[in-house]
Amino acid sequence: MPIRVLDPEVVSRIAAGEVVERPASVVKELVENSLDAAATQISVEVRGGGLSQIRVIDDGVGIPAGEVELAFSRHATSKINAFEDLSTVASLGFRGEALPSITAVAQVDMVTAAAGEAPGSFISVRDGTVVKQESQGRSQGTTVTVRNLFRQVPARLKFLKSAATENGHIASVLSQYALAFPEIRFSLSIDGRVALRTAGTCRLIDSIISVYSAEVARQMLEVVSGEGGWGDDHQIQVLGMTSTPSVSRSSRGYLSFFVNRRWINSCLLNRALEEAYHGLLMVGRHPIAVINIALPPEELDVNVHPTKTAVKFTKGDLVFSAVQRAVRRALIEQAPVPRMEEKAAGYGAAVAEPELWATAEIRDRAAAPAAGDYTPTAALPVLRVLGQLFNSYIIAEGPDGLYLIDQHAAHERILFERIKYQPSQIEVQGLLEPATIEVSPGQNEVLKSHYAGLKEFGFTIEPFGKRTFLVRAVPALLNDKDWSAVLRELMDSLGGEGRGDWQEILAISMACHGAVRAGQTLTDDEMRELLRQLEQVTSPRTCPHGRPTMIQLSSDQLKREFGRT
Ligand code: ADP
Ligand code: MG
Repeated sequence: MPIRVLDPEVVSRIAAGEVVERPASVVKELVENSLDAAATQISVEVRGGGLSQIRVIDDGVGIPAGEVELAFSRHATSKINAFEDLSTVASLGFRGEALPSITAVAQVDMVTAAAGEAPGSFISVRDGTVVKQESQGRSQGTTVTVRNLFRQVPARLKFLKSAATENGHIASVLSQYALAFPEIRFSLSIDGRVALRTAGTCRLIDSIISVYSAEVARQMLEVVSGEGGWGDDHQIQVLGMTSTPSVSRSSRGYLSFFVNRRWINSCLLNRALEEAYHGLLMVGRHPIAVINIALPPEELDVNVHPTKTAVKFTKGDLVFSAVQRAVRRALIEQAPVPRMEEKAAGYGAAVAEPELWATAEIRDRAAAPAAGDYTPTAALPVLRVLGQLFNSYIIAEGPDGLYLIDQHAAHERILFERIKYQPSQIEVQGLLEPATIEVSPGQNEVLKSHYAGLKEFGFTIEPFGKRTFLVRAVPALLNDKDWSAVLRELMDSLGGEGRGDWQEILAISMACHGAVRAGQTLTDDEMRELLRQLEQVTSPRTCPHGRPTMIQLSSDQLKREFGRT
């Protein structure tokens, strides 16, 4: 084929493919336009998985009659003027591509009225051309109706999943905006049924209740922090809510990040959050979090991709540590001891309720210096030992009720922190007779490359034949315990796929094998000593695998159970 310039229609369909990947992309673009138009109420109605119809109704500023047609031209936007404006763009849209892209792959009707304009205007666009334009009455705001999406693009239709799947994507988009904008009333109806509705109360917690449930909301902790990232007047603020370590999910689908309230996907932020939960959640489990990062717009490049969900931070490392520290601090300071559940109780008391993301009050509090990581907590109350249950749990009394402490999990936590943070204090025990261990070829390599490191943790190992090693000394806490299992666990996890932090893996394994077992009788003195040591650790409420070390039965709950209230 000879080289030739493509027809404009073909060009616009190709370009549309970047913006409009599936029905949920249309919803996203239209809702962003409504948000940019300062709407206070946004209703979305979809039919047939969004392919038959998507309608978005807002009460925003509307479009003046004289500009309605222009809104559908490619690169027509009211949001930026010059390229320089991009560096400070605060609106969600700015590329002037959404409306023309949607009209390239669907039939679009719009009714809109700007302030003080009566009546409003109606415009109908088919295949990118205006087929009808007339006056039509409407209160201030805009209604956009998109029909027969992708009917002319069979290739795209083929890739779409079932209506249920597309509805799921649409609901997820709307959920994200509902979480980012608690002050706006959102509603989503799918084939005539209400799928989501928020009240626009300004409180994030209310959006979390609407999107996730009151049960989840009850377990969310407030994240509030601000750090001087760019000097005194420019801060990175991290505001939002994150779940206590007692709830988790098997996917990252419950992590919502916003930068200046733009919904974004970011591996960097996923990692920051994971780091914050390090040692508090089991491997493969993920928290629920809604986090907004506020920073000067010029520290951000949003023009990375037409869908605008990818951003580049000019100072990624600062953003990373601000998020990691803010979330870690919330976890350490607020995560409650899990209670023997009071399901009926309101969430209100248990959860701090931030007003809107950026109220002055939160900003003031955010300006206070953030506590560094690993601040010891005074969060554990003084506990008095009452006895031992099943030779596995310590029963203790505290100022607010009864505590059951899992002796193994609690001891694991104590040993883990000691090993991890003070390896130099590990006592070494020479073996009376050196022991040999045999390893596989893969393990051989791992062990050889960790001699020096292992020595720091109390293991003295030297080669002895081809794949045999001589162990001369072990950490004293593993004397009489299965120290060879510790070495094997380390070699297995280092030899496998996820390499990870070997010191951490070793510390977890040493703590697990060194800790008192369930079923072991403890004297009163031993139990008291265990609790005293638990009071000293940084994260007393979970073992290094993320399981709780204790549960509490509050005095209020006891009263209720016995009908004393
Ligand atoms: P962008 O949002 O990038 O500017 P769009 O193609 O999405 O580009 O929209 C083009 C223009 O149409 C916007 O800049 C805005 O002026 C106007 N517009 C679109 N939707 C709305 C709406 N719901 N309310 C008011 N104005 C709107
Ligand atoms: Mg737009």
